[in-house]
Amino acid sequence: MVIERTLAILKPDCVRKKLTGEVIARIEKAGFKILGLKKIRLTKETAGGFYAVHKGRPFYDGLVEFMSSGPCVPIALEKENAVTDFRTLIGATDPKDAAVGTIRKLYADNKGENIIHGSDSAENGRIEINFFFCTRELIETG
Ligand code: UDP
Ligand code: MG
Repeated sequence: MVIERTLAILKPDCVRKKLTGEVIARIEKAGFKILGLKKIRLTKETAGGFYAVHKGRPFYDGLVEFMSSGPCVPIALEKENAVTDFRTLIGATDPKDAAVGTIRKLYADNKGENIIHGSDSAENGRIEINFFFCTRELIETG
């Protein structure tokens, strides 16, 4: 198995519900190494850029509105098989479809406000980490 990187974002609903610590604890217990972590407020432009792949979809405007509605917490993660393992940890996009015990099943209200983002491929993991972090903000040791 190869060591991969993936980007998590604790979305604005996660921060508003004061679940930041609880969700990070689950990520750490699942064996992910935190390389970098910050709290930021996305502008509509930045949120739109991050989700550009979804531009034109019916949920795009609402997604951009939601992701810029308050602070969020991007986290750069590393682990063997990080992308798939992280998607398994967070569960399906819609909490109604998410497996029992997954982060979205436990904490998310609906398909739009679903607590957490996870990259969908190793390549996108690298691209998305670089969207939020520069090299000196990614700490390999410890
Ligand atoms: N989303 C939504 N409605 C949909 C599909 C997606 O509001 O029908 C939002 C949701 O917040 C989701 C994000 O858009 O997490 C990105 O969608 P994607 O299909 O990439 O889901 P994910 O990879 O986050 O599971
Ligand atoms: Mg996705």
